Amino acid sequence: MSEEYDLVTIGAGSGGVRASRLAAGLYGAKVAVIELPFGFVSSDSVGGAGGTCVIRGCVPKKLMVYASEFAEQFHDAQGFGWAQVSPPVDVKKLIASKAKEVERLNGVYGQILSKAGVEVIEGRGVVLDPHTVEVRAADGSVRQLKTKRILVATGGRAVKPPIPGAELGITSDEALVLDNVPPGGTMIIVGAGYIAVEFAGIFNGLGYDTHLVVRGDLPLRGFDEECRQVVRDNMEKRGIHLHFHTNPTKLERNADGGIDFHFYDNGTQSGGIIKCAQAMFATGRAPNTRGIGLEARCGCGPGPEEPGHSGGRVPSIWAIGDCTNRMNLTPVALMEGKALVATLFGGKPSVPDYENVPTAVFCQPPLGTVGLTEPQAIERLAGQVDVYISKFKPMKNTLSGRDERTFMKMIVHVQTNRVVGCHMVSAVERKQRRRLAVRMNVLVAAAAAVVVVVVVAVAVGPDAAEIMQGLGIALKCHATKAQFDSCVGIHPSAAEEWVTMS
Ligand code: NDP
Repeated sequence: MSEEYDLVTIGAGSGGVRASRLAAGLYGAKVAVIELPFGFVSSDSVGGAGGTCVIRGCVPKKLMVYASEFAEQFHDAQGFGWAQVSPPVDVKKLIASKAKEVERLNGVYGQILSKAGVEVIEGRGVVLDPHTVEVRAADGSVRQLKTKRILVATGGRAVKPPIPGAELGITSDEALVLDNVPPGGTMIIVGAGYIAVEFAGIFNGLGYDTHLVVRGDLPLRGFDEECRQVVRDNMEKRGIHLHFHTNPTKLERNADGGIDFHFYDNGTQSGGIIKCAQAMFATGRAPNTRGIGLEARCGCGPGPEEPGHSGGRVPSIWAIGDCTNRMNLTPVALMEGKALVATLFGGKPSVPDYENVPTAVFCQPPLGTVGLTEPQAIERLAGQVDVYISKFKPMKNTLSGRDERTFMKMIVHVQTNRVVGCHMVSAVERKQRRRLAVRMNVLVAAAAAVVVVVVVAVAVGPDAAEIMQGLGIALKCHATKAQFDSCVGIHPSAAEEWVTMS
């Protein structure tokens, strides 16, 4: 039976849910969302409303980050008079509690859709032609939906490198439900992006012997260089074994039931084996668009031809979120979904704005960043930038004795005084340093220049993620350094450093 919809969305992740509920709830469109059932898992799909973020990404990951942070809190508490305690962690209980919360949120997402009047159809969506989507349900039944527009919001999936035995290794999907490796076991993580660095912190904090295998010379390529060094130092300081210039070459099941992880170290030009309980690949993600009929039946991929959310070569087909592989962040998918339905149904043509998207890596302590990195700012602004750096000991670390400092960097465009970038992390104190607030004029004899700040901020430190959200707003408002300076600080806090940098 054919039905006529204004919009059929394939995928009920963050972007798909946002677009669908706004289209139906705000603009009165007739909308259906197709999603696999909660609990469904296959080689390329995991079902359930909420998608990657809720089921196997941001939410469960952050809960695991919280769990892993207690170890350092037990340690630091001693400096504040608490007795020494180091209770064991029950990983099975943690995973079960987390699963319950994920299930609850899955229900919430389903309700959000129903309340907005969106029809949720369980199954796998396949595009038959630019106005027809077939839904293949788990029970074998098939249904065809006729629609004016199709939204592809199928997210991404983890990819593993093509090495022998790669199938023995897990990805973050399985790592989030891993309850059969007791703490103390050796965990190897391959990669150096968001996921690798975050999971290294999680496993290390939970008490696993954690190794991070990185093919480059620092983690987090693309982030501020000094912040990357700080993240490296923090991981090392916390006992994570770092293997730089190293590539995995083979995984083999060993006689103990564990894995022999074979690697090649390009630095020493020699190979080796690490015996581990589990090896995890965090080597990137790919668009989850296989087998949904786009190339075969419509002659298009889901990617847009111009920046924004527009739908490629077929005018009725649109794509948002991780399946476009543009900027794989939940809030970006939300922005794209909102802009798309405002354009299609609200009569308000809108283009997502990818400038000054704040982001955080939930390593320990976290890294927060918004705006341009220093090299980007120098290139885009012809060297006309001032760089302000602050390193200081967070107050909590005075009594806890933890030798970590917070690192903040703000980048300001000289001519306009606008802040163009902010970056923040907590730095390990390698040697005694006094608090540093440096103003550097990068290139150009800018002594005479009027300082126009395009502020950029980066920071590593406790609360870096929370702080960076506010700075993101400031950058969106084109705040100047002078305006930062005119804001009264909240004392005592780490955040006040952002308004006292000189
Ligand atoms: P990334 O693309 O960020 O990182 C992939 C990493 O794997 C890189 O370090 C890369 O090294 C390395 N790598 C790739 N191929 C190989 C290989 N064959 N051998 C060894 N190393 C390899 O992917 P992630 O999976 O970490 O994250 C995917 C996306 O998810 C991110 O881009 C981010 O947008 C999003 N995300 C956001 C989070 C947040 O907001 N906190 C949390 C988690 C994910 P190299 O750098 O040398 O290329």
